[in-house]
Amino acid sequence: CGIVGYIGTQQAAPLLLEGLTRLEHRGYDSAGVAVLGASGSALKVAKKAGRVRDLAEDLPKRFAGKVGIGHTRWATHGPATDANAHPHTDTKGDVAVVHNGIIDNASALRKLLADDGVDLVSDTDTEVLAHLVARSDADTLEGRVADALAVIEGTYGVAVVHADFPDRIVVARNGSPLIIGVGDKEMHVASDLAALVRYTTTVAHLDDGEMATLTATGFTTYRQDLTATATL
Ligand code: GLU
Repeated sequence: CGIVGYIGTQQAAPLLLEGLTRLEHRGYDSAGVAVLGASGSALKVAKKAGRVRDLAEDLPKRFAGKVGIGHTRWATHGPATDANAHPHTDTKGDVAVVHNGIIDNASALRKLLADDGVDLVSDTDTEVLAHLVARSDADTLEGRVADALAVIEGTYGVAVVHADFPDRIVVARNGSPLIIGVGDKEMHVASDLAALVRYTTTVAHLDDGEMATLTATGFTTYRQDLTATATL
């Protein structure tokens, strides 16, 4: 339903919660955020059914990090529970994914993963993405996300962070909007302009079939075969 992301020089969590609050008019049943701290530190995830305000009140004290993604969920696969709220993670807890849209072949992918010993902890279609990214052996996060998307059928706006690649957020769009916001030594991403206008008026809209990498200093867009389309 709603996606936000931030990478820059400020603490991510308060900005993500603020952005999610600005998406509240879209309607949602659950909210969550994932944040990465300094290189080598673990991914932190907080998520629950209910309002952004409730999530903010329950956020652990130690939630520092200047890279993060957030989501407000409008459930399509599985009820509004804490476990089904986004971000979704892989088993090890290195990868976090937020997703708008519907993965049509999720039940087949869930079965393949479960048959291969993966413990699925939610009812969602989205969770498969986190496991697929974690299982890719590509060298780069861009390659791992592209590998995961290559087996997905359906619609998505997605944002991905990975503890082994703490200097970036990788996003992708197919049928569900994503907009990049360019700030001063910081980059934002959101599914709706309403979450960006407070921070910047310089924006770039992703096209369907496009991916992008955000770092603190700029962004690159490319096709899912990783051929570049634009760089800032
Ligand atoms: N299909 C996903 C889910 O049910 C995402 C729904 C949304 O767009 O919020 O969790």
